[in-house]
Amino acid sequence: MIPAIRGTHDILPGEVERWQRVEAVSRRLFERYGYAEVRTPIIEREELFAKGTGETTDIVQKEMYAFTDKGGERITLRPEATPSLVRAFVEHSLEQAMASPKIYLFGPMFRYERPQKGRYRQFHQLDVEVFGVSDPAVDAEVVDLAWALVGELGIANAELVVNSVGCPACRPAFGEALLKALGEDVTRLCGDCQRRAGVNPLRIFDCKVPQDQPIIDGLPHSVDYLCDACRDHFAAVERHLGMYGIPYRVSHRLVRGLDYYTRTTFEILAGNIGAQNAILGGGRYDGLVKQLGGPDRVGIGFAAGIERLVLAMPDGARDDGRRPLFVAAMGEPARESALALLRDLRRAGLEAHMEYEGRSIKSQMKRADRLKAAFALILGDDELAAGVVSVKDMTKGGQARVSRDAVVNHCRALVAGGQE
Ligand SMILES: [Zn+2]
Ligand SMILES: [Zn+2]
Repeated sequence: MIPAIRGTHDILPGEVERWQRVEAVSRRLFERYGYAEVRTPIIEREELFAKGTGETTDIVQKEMYAFTDKGGERITLRPEATPSLVRAFVEHSLEQAMASPKIYLFGPMFRYERPQKGRYRQFHQLDVEVFGVSDPAVDAEVVDLAWALVGELGIANAELVVNSVGCPACRPAFGEALLKALGEDVTRLCGDCQRRAGVNPLRIFDCKVPQDQPIIDGLPHSVDYLCDACRDHFAAVERHLGMYGIPYRVSHRLVRGLDYYTRTTFEILAGNIGAQNAILGGGRYDGLVKQLGGPDRVGIGFAAGIERLVLAMPDGARDDGRRPLFVAAMGEPARESALALLRDLRRAGLEAHMEYEGRSIKSQMKRADRLKAAFALILGDDELAAGVVSVKDMTKGGQARVSRDAVVNHCRALVAGGQE
């Protein structure tokens, strides 16, 4: 056997239904909020993420699947969706093409990380982005969409945290305040934090090393260093969230590990997947479109790991509404009529199964049980002679003879009735 590559996984029947549910619920929701789907390639130029995600981020420095292709170009498997969607927005002038540039994407992302529970090297995200609106009402709308998604998936114990990381005008002062507050303590922090202190001190808040936490907890908060415009913006975001009745907590630790965030950042945590863990995160990136060669347009969005949403979703609601039918045949002449009936049922939009290996009626009925068939349609010599089909209710018991001509419509009514 040739096994799958470490850090990748197959999504099999039994689990895939949960994935389909995430996709169906989010698609419906995104479209209600005015988003349109965009599908971008899995491979992009390496420089898109070096410039977009940020040269100094862990993603770009340590985790990219980058390689030189046969034409000598530096290519990478995409590690996140936002730079690709910004590229598509710029490359296709979506601002002109769409009445309101709000887009979403589903798809695999790739990061070379140490695999652990719920964390894969090929993982999957859903992602939404809005371009060109700086009004704080859109920040609140994006957060509201994220909150609605988590709610519609039935994820319990979800907690929303928000923060503002300021803008290029006020962030340098905050960075200096961080370094000043750290002082000599910087040498007691982990190696990663010492490196972060040199390139982007805000990133120290991302540290998970336990010994560093007491020092980090004592650091100043970004919301205390916002310029007037950023402070007004954040106050308005909070006011809107209050108006929508969305419960939230301000966390000064929430800076997110990417370079492009400005002003609003947010995450939704869920408690039932081990430690309190982020299942969704996003924020505003007002400089990114211009930085990637586009017009000076603001942007905001969020991404969620589908693996994590699936883990956080409740187990219940196993009833997927399926009501399969099973066609059983006794004897060779009945078999051909049964095949024709099987085909008629499927043509009529019904899920129907049959056993092809010509086994005894007992083993056919066993198979019907394994398939969780709602009804079995039995054809033998008697039924053939009388022009009928015996329809057996597999859950309640009981059997009725229905004329062959009427049986497809009869089954359609039975299946529809069972769904109410
Ligand atoms: Zn500012
Ligand atoms: Zn650290």
